[in-house]
Amino acid sequence: MTAKREQGWLFHGGRILDARRAGSGRARGGYTEAVLVLGDRIEAVGPLARVRAAAPRGARVVNLRGGTLTPGFVDAHIHLLTWIRAVGDVWIERQTPEGLEDAVRAAQARARDGDWITLRGWVPREWSRERRARATLDRALPGRPLVLLAIDGHSAWGNGAALREAKIAPDVADPPGGTVDRDASGSLTGIFIEAAATLLRRAIPRRREPAEDLAHAVRRAHALGITGAHDFDRADIWRAAQELSGRGRLPFRLVLSVPASKLESAEDLELRSSWGNERVRVGAVKFFADGTLGSGTALLEEEYEDDTSTGTEVISRSELEDRCARARKAGLTVAIHAIGDRAVRNALDAIEGSIRRGGPFPAAPRIEHIQLAREEDLPRFKALGVLASVQPIHQVTDRDVAKRKWGERTARSYAYRSLLRAGARLAFGSDAPFDRPGPLLALQAALLRRAGGEPESQAFHPEQRLGLAPALRAHLEEPNRLAGWSTPLGRIAPGWGADLVQFDQDLLRIDPETYHRARVRAVWVAGARVFGKSL
Ligand SMILES: [Zn+2]
Repeated sequence: MTAKREQGWLFHGGRILDARRAGSGRARGGYTEAVLVLGDRIEAVGPLARVRAAAPRGARVVNLRGGTLTPGFVDAHIHLLTWIRAVGDVWIERQTPEGLEDAVRAAQARARDGDWITLRGWVPREWSRERRARATLDRALPGRPLVLLAIDGHSAWGNGAALREAKIAPDVADPPGGTVDRDASGSLTGIFIEAAATLLRRAIPRRREPAEDLAHAVRRAHALGITGAHDFDRADIWRAAQELSGRGRLPFRLVLSVPASKLESAEDLELRSSWGNERVRVGAVKFFADGTLGSGTALLEEEYEDDTSTGTEVISRSELEDRCARARKAGLTVAIHAIGDRAVRNALDAIEGSIRRGGPFPAAPRIEHIQLAREEDLPRFKALGVLASVQPIHQVTDRDVAKRKWGERTARSYAYRSLLRAGARLAFGSDAPFDRPGPLLALQAALLRRAGGEPESQAFHPEQRLGLAPALRAHLEEPNRLAGWSTPLGRIAPGWGADLVQFDQDLLRIDPETYHRARVRAVWVAGARVFGKSL
């Protein structure tokens, strides 16, 4: 260990990039900076000759070859285990019975005997009421459990065999916050919405142990340049994280959330936000204020453009405030899922009310997604110290649905620039597997408000574009600051932790248009190389 620490790493010959450098224009010249890492920290940054003189003999030299060295990226909102389990699943490409049959066939070819067939990418609204019947799935696959998972993760649809295996009785009741769908005659359609989806999902047999899944997810995250994450998955990641970190096999920084249904357990255990070690920490309790854009359940101030509804209030404003107050009292901060403008307002009101009742949260409370917000609510983020946790890739994925459902209101959708101007702190994530992960895709979306290669006319409200510096701050600094690691992370400066990513391209020289083509060459976490070999 000691020998290794003394060896160190010396980086040179490329771009050194973090939010401060992107903002100052300092890095725009040549590749004059070199970086020395000793142990788990950055020891020195400066001209190569000076840094080399400070390096111990035997320091391993990394020539960046015109590529970029950045701090490790943190995905501030991801579902790691669901993501990695989804990677191997077949997706429904066409939302028709024929498309379903194709997907079933592809999945059956991959599955082992006895496995359930699970398909991803189901878009409920593209299936007519008549087709959303159990017979549709029973026809596609009789006799073997088949489950379709909705693309937004908020509902699931099972065939007769799946319902039998899951022991779901015909007279099953709606759980709180969920709906068991029935046809006109009162029979189960096999569709389970919001909290009810758990009835079906939890019955799907796992193929691997959670720890094995997590190790796999971490490797895949490294390949994207991600060295840490704020996870919002189900509770089995707690066991997985403890197991890997206990064995010293977690080359990753993980902030875990407490599902709303586990608030009481957390209270009983007196579990507190920010408690943990240098790899795993306790984050926020996650509450839901509304549903999703795609399913028309995001809670709005005014009716949808394509519907007379204003969405679903998953939890009332006052109930939300009570739960926030409980969490705060227990020493836990909160993360509130709020997509529609009314949900965002409810979330801010609930946070404000609970602060007024009992004082500040132990760590910054956060609101997740904020896909639509009223102008007058934006300054409240700063005033209340609420972190805006957003997923830039949604600007690309969701824009057509957003235009259809929100019309002119999209002028204040995904309004990251307005949020920043109002003093809010932004943290970037992906919400994978419900959207595509990867910091370069997120940066590209934040900078361009469109995908790489799309014509400029496709840009979605380009007035909301961000510059590279605030985008990097949201992906590198804010999530780490919120986690409260004892080693500062997210900058390339002496004394900061050595979580680093080497990209094969100069991210300042290439056009953001082509960010998606840049590749990760190597990754370091706490000064140890955890991905890539080439020197
Ligand atoms: Zn999520």
